[in-house]
Amino acid sequence: MRSKLLVVLDADNTLWDTNSVFEDCQRELLEMLNDIYRHSRTEITFDRLREIDQSIAESHPRGLRYPFSILIRRLREIMIGKAGPDDPLDAELANRFYQELAAKTPPLLEGVNEGLALLKSAANLVILSEGGQSRIPILLEKYAISDYVRATEYVTSKTSEEFYRIRRQYRHRGVIKEWSIGDQLAKDIGPAAEANFSTVFVPGGFDSKWNQTYNGAEPTYVARDFLDAAEYIIKDLKD
Ligand SMILES: [Mg+2]
Repeated sequence: MRSKLLVVLDADNTLWDTNSVFEDCQRELLEMLNDIYRHSRTEITFDRLREIDQSIAESHPRGLRYPFSILIRRLREIMIGKAGPDDPLDAELANRFYQELAAKTPPLLEGVNEGLALLKSAANLVILSEGGQSRIPILLEKYAISDYVRATEYVTSKTSEEFYRIRRQYRHRGVIKEWSIGDQLAKDIGPAAEANFSTVFVPGGFDSKWNQTYNGAEPTYVARDFLDAAEYIIKDLKD
């Protein structure tokens, strides 16, 4: 049977909890820095680190994917109380951070397995992700969900053009309705709605402050978890 739906899925913090892994690594990094600069006057708390992290991401062209050495340098300057020259330690700690991050496996989020199983017969499931080429296939295999997913598309930025492009592809295959599921309004909901997708917002544990709105775009539905999102989409198909 040909599937009538296209469901575009976000990966990070929608399928698995990338944020918790990120937070673990940031906490380890902070502990290391507080230890290295323990004679400085200013000890930095984790909440303060997150504020600084967000303010860097907000003004950096790569957003949350900005190079981590920038954060380390900023933390170091606050700890020692002045802007210092480049320190090779910044890059070294950033490298260690990335290695730690790569070594950890984000846990699958609540309801994802059940939700994907529910959607698979009615929908073409396509993952749309900004980066993650090396991680996503590994995680899909690890959690035994790769068979549910028809394709994974990697884009530099989730724009409405990308959603339109995928929509056209599947309209040719008999799809009559498109959905996008994700945890970020500015990436998964706004651009998808512009491309005539219906949308389900599954708020995650973390979203950058400037991503909380997207030109007033309202998601079609706000779900408690991934299974709730899937059930809503299936119910809508039957109605
Ligand atoms: Mg996400």
